[in-house]
Amino acid sequence: MSPPTDVAIIGGGIVGCAAAAFLAEAGVRVDLYEQDEVAAGASGRNSGSVQHPFDPVLTDLHAETLRHYRDLNDFELPPQAAGVLMLARERSVLEPSVAEVARNSPELAPELLAPDELRRVEPAVGPGLWGCRLDTGYPVRPGAATRAFAKRAYAAGARFHEGETAWPWVIAGRARGVLAAGVRRPAGAVLVAAGPWTPELIDPTGSWRPIVPVWGVVAEVEMDAPPRHVLEEAGVEAVGGGGTAAIFSLVPADGQVSIGSTFLPEEPDAPMWAPTLRRGGERFVPALRRGKVVGARACARPQSFDGRPLVGELPDVEGLWTAAGHGPWGISAGPATARIAAEALLGNIEVPASLSVARF
Ligand SMILES: Cc1cc2nc3c(=O)[nH]c(=O)nc-3n(C[C@H](O)[C@H](O)[C@H](O)COP(=O)(O)OP(=O)(O)OC[C@H]3O[C@@H](n4cnc5c(N)ncnc54)[C@H](O)[C@@H]3O)c2cc1C
Repeated sequence: MSPPTDVAIIGGGIVGCAAAAFLAEAGVRVDLYEQDEVAAGASGRNSGSVQHPFDPVLTDLHAETLRHYRDLNDFELPPQAAGVLMLARERSVLEPSVAEVARNSPELAPELLAPDELRRVEPAVGPGLWGCRLDTGYPVRPGAATRAFAKRAYAAGARFHEGETAWPWVIAGRARGVLAAGVRRPAGAVLVAAGPWTPELIDPTGSWRPIVPVWGVVAEVEMDAPPRHVLEEAGVEAVGGGGTAAIFSLVPADGQVSIGSTFLPEEPDAPMWAPTLRRGGERFVPALRRGKVVGARACARPQSFDGRPLVGELPDVEGLWTAAGHGPWGISAGPATARIAAEALLGNIEVPASLSVARF
């Protein structure tokens, strides 16, 4: 089969916009359909930390993503990592995480910090806490990378259909294009990059659900002296599946900090959660008590069963492709996934087995 000359992309998040840029720059005619506006989902409402995802497969995607960000116009990746501080009340809670990071990701130079050392490194944290500093964590504006990729795709000729809900148009086991605004729009291939909505677009019967939404709330708080580091309560990597209601994280950006986050199966009421998140954060950063909550946002992580994205052509529908399922790591790893999806669509590479959609 020769590669398609025109591709319809459903979803204007980080994955869809980056894929649109890569495909359009390769000479493909791209139409991107976004039901709301670019970055309306998690790609515009996340905590805003580009950081190492610990999982070895995602780590490669993250390393490539950093390179894409350094090359991206209209996007500022800080030149140095701010550092991530994992925090816990007990040394024993932190020790297993530190040992695991040291084993799997020694490049992060994990360093266990006793309470006094921790406060020397980050004066904003409260007394009696243990910490581990990791050499990662680049705070960015939540939607900036997605919008920059959209701009790059547009400059390369991609056409954006914002405010248009689209569905794959499939006949006799072959994707023919999309159905959007009640109209059939033919395309050589369809790439569904619709984050947590991906399974319902691919299989409206509901029997294929390898990605589920895990809803998070982020509270925006103004602080006089915000922490310098990205802060995370130890254990955040273990809660991707939605087992815990809320776990503390803080990302500082320009005097305003994003406090997270919840892990919920249903869409939460963001303003209702904001005071709870701030109160929870006071256990780690006492000055949050004086911080002013200036906003709250909710969005859904596209969580796959094994925590890795699903990429490739659906085994039983020719011409129907997907790239989705980054859970809490889409801003840190999504552009590399998009590049792999684009290259595979063009027939240049095969999708690695660890990412292949065929594994579910
Ligand atoms: C609270 C929270 C904090 C996070 N913090 C971080 C972080 O600090 N660092 C990090 O790396 N990651 C973070 N993430 C994860 C990251 O935001 C996601 O993994 C990533 O944004 C997913 O991108 P996506 O393009 O796959 O999906 P999305 O951003 O969800 O984009 C999918 C798009 O598809 C559109 N769509 C859906 N259905 C249709 C349809 N039928 N027709 C047209 N359009 C449709 C949606 O409107 C949406 O815009 C966080 C997530 C949450 C929830």
